[in-house]
Amino acid sequence: MSTTLRSRLTLSHALLAAAAVLAAGGAARIVARDRFDKYIAAGIESRVRTLAASTAALRDPGGEWDPGRLESLGVGALEDGFILRFLDGNGAVVWDAREHNAGLCSQMIASMTVRMAGTGADRGSGYRERTVALPALPGDPGSPALVAGYYGPVYYRDAELAYLRSLDRALGAVGLGLAALAGLAGAWSARRLSSPLRSAARAARSLGRGDFGVRLSPAGIRELDELSGALSRLSEALGEQEELRKRLVADASHELRTPLASLRARLEALRDGVRVPDEAALEACLQDALRLGGLVGSLEGLARADASTYSGARETFDLAAAVRSVCAAYQDSARAGGLRLRADAPEPVPVSGDRPALEGAVGNLVSNALRFSDPGKTVEVRVRLTFDAGDLPEPPPATGIRVWARVEVEDEGIGIAPEDLPRVFERFFRADPSRSRATGGFGLGLAIVRAAARAHGGEVYARSPGLGRGSRFLLVLPAAPEGLPYVAALGGEEQGRVE
Ligand code: ADP
Repeated sequence: MSTTLRSRLTLSHALLAAAAVLAAGGAARIVARDRFDKYIAAGIESRVRTLAASTAALRDPGGEWDPGRLESLGVGALEDGFILRFLDGNGAVVWDAREHNAGLCSQMIASMTVRMAGTGADRGSGYRERTVALPALPGDPGSPALVAGYYGPVYYRDAELAYLRSLDRALGAVGLGLAALAGLAGAWSARRLSSPLRSAARAARSLGRGDFGVRLSPAGIRELDELSGALSRLSEALGEQEELRKRLVADASHELRTPLASLRARLEALRDGVRVPDEAALEACLQDALRLGGLVGSLEGLARADASTYSGARETFDLAAAVRSVCAAYQDSARAGGLRLRADAPEPVPVSGDRPALEGAVGNLVSNALRFSDPGKTVEVRVRLTFDAGDLPEPPPATGIRVWARVEVEDEGIGIAPEDLPRVFERFFRADPSRSRATGGFGLGLAIVRAAARAHGGEVYARSPGLGRGSRFLLVLPAAPEGLPYVAALGGEEQGRVE
């Protein structure tokens, strides 16, 4: 079963924090306890020494002990947790706490053992006896001694035990607080992550339903913003595609309707005897049929170019020669229109691709230049190899290409208004529909050229200084390195050095 990002992140943050707090708190506790135990042990040790000094002071210069004061010292020590026994220079017991109150002593040892058992500091500690030799006086057969019984080396009294408990409580509280804080921080960061992801998922679902108006706002996290940006762009592109598709269908049916209606009217007139089926009437019908056929052909060309179905028909050929033969084919119509058509293609320009499609693209540009020029003007077609695509407004999409084939079709015709320039490659766009239709145009020619150029990793650009001042179309395609003999001689990679 899948869990939410939010619960996962919250849990992992809290677990991590708990582990860190346990480790750090545990280490701090061990160090603190060790220091504290050493301090306690030193305290007990010093109390034993103080007791020994006090005992020695209770002996008068004649060597006699004061039994009353000895007993009060022993009873006082007992209350402090020390079970004392005094021995004289012969080793004989002068006073013994156990003889004084045996029951209290064993009860005390038992309760000290029980108290220390739960503290965790009882390792190595227990009830022990220590003999401290006291200074001997002249005439003493041996040193008198104090035998101190106590729980050690570490024993916690009430205040010390209370201190340790409050230390543990403080560490526990800090740990719990930090784990809770980390959990909250995890929940917060998970929320920051999950809400844009959820929006992205919602946006993708909307796209799936065909709603292309999806725009995502940035979340402030780079990777997520990249995702949102990509989705927004996808949505925009899909929306444009959808719009284009709808417009294409609408425009295509509109374009088909006119010749169809005309053909139908002519045929009805013939059937009803309104017109006689003479040559002129039949010719008019034929023209309508040809126009319909031309539109269908253009639509097919566009579909083929759009689908990039050229990959199967690739061949490497000389584009310069192809352009020369395209120009030769248009010479008659140029002459008929009183125009000069010149091809300037002096050197071989190898390209690789679908030859008929690329020839068709050049043909479209040439035919446009002729159709939109008045008699007496010149159309010039130049083909060159070039090493630089840097002067182009938007370089072609193909990457890693250093040698380009450039076809420039320049005319002195009607020109293109600046506001129309960006639109001339749109489907069914015609700056002047009546002129275009009169010359047989559907506004699809340049769309086909662009689709063909892009399908070959190239691009096509339109430039014009303005209406009435001519136009220049530039078709840029990647050159085929295998077709450049001097490149092959240099070894493929040296394309850039071709002169
Ligand atoms: P059409 O079939 O109308 O020629 P195109 O797609 O080839 O369709 O061209 C679209 C429009 O771009 C034309 O209708 C025309 O307005 C403009 N255009 C194309 N080529 C030229 C040119 N050489 N000179 C001026 N205008 C041009």
